This record gives sequence, structure tokens and C-alpha cells, in this order.
Amino acid sequence: MYEELLKKAKQVSYYSHSPYNKFCVGAALLTRSGKIYTGCNIDNHGISSICGERVAFTKAFSEGEPTKDKENYVAIMVVGRKESSDKFEAAIPCGYCRQFMSEFVNKNFKVLTYEEGRIVEYTLEDLLPNSFDL
Ligand code: ZN
Repeated sequence: MYEELLKKAKQVSYYSHSPYNKFCVGAALLTRSGKIYTGCNIDNHGISSICGERVAFTKAFSEGEPTKDKENYVAIMVVGRKESSDKFEAAIPCGYCRQFMSEFVNKNFKVLTYEEGRIVEYTLEDLLPNSFDL
């Protein structure tokens, strides 16, 4: 299943709008039922940009996935690449996304990335220890 998440996260990075930092992120969120929601980063020079992780979550919510069932969300794969490259590298969620996700997932939720040709696995608790209301 993680390989499928990786494939989808890589694919969606090609939809990224990132003319400023030129780093294209793709995210793929897995739910308990096996559905996958994807997201890419969408930068904006005038207002706050949105990361691929938050796009994936907000797509899931806006298509009917629950916001109050933390067991519903299993894992998210996040990968990135330079705009000019097809070589993928690790993309660890930013602090804003870590805090955002903590409202909707339990402490065993997996945050996956792809580094040096292999999938690397964290829990959200690894990335956001001792957070409020995990
Ligand atoms: Zn972020």
C-alpha cells in the first residue's frame, strides 16, 4: 500500500504551482477504507501558500471524510522534487502542517517520505512531540 501512496504522491507533484521556491511537493493521504486523496503545493505570492498535505486533507474533508474520527486516517506520503528535476527527495511536513494534521489524526498516524530510494516512516508524534490534543 505504501508503494501506491508513493506512486500517487509522485504523480501529483507534477500539478504543483511553485514558481517562487521551485520545489514541487506531492502528498497522498490514506484512509482506513483504502481511499487515497492527493494534494500538491500551491504557492501564491500575495497571500499564504498551501502545502500538499493540507490540500490532501481538505480534499478528503470536502468529499465527505470525517473530521472527528481520528482513526479514519492511516498515513500520508509526502515527496518533493525540484521543478527542473524528476529526482524525488524527502519532503517532511512543515510545522504548520504538523499542527494542522494533529487535529485530525491519532498519534500512530504515519508520515511517510521517500529518501535515497527508500520509504522512510515517522509517526506524527515523532514530528510533533508533546503536542496539544494528539
Ligand atoms: Zn506544510
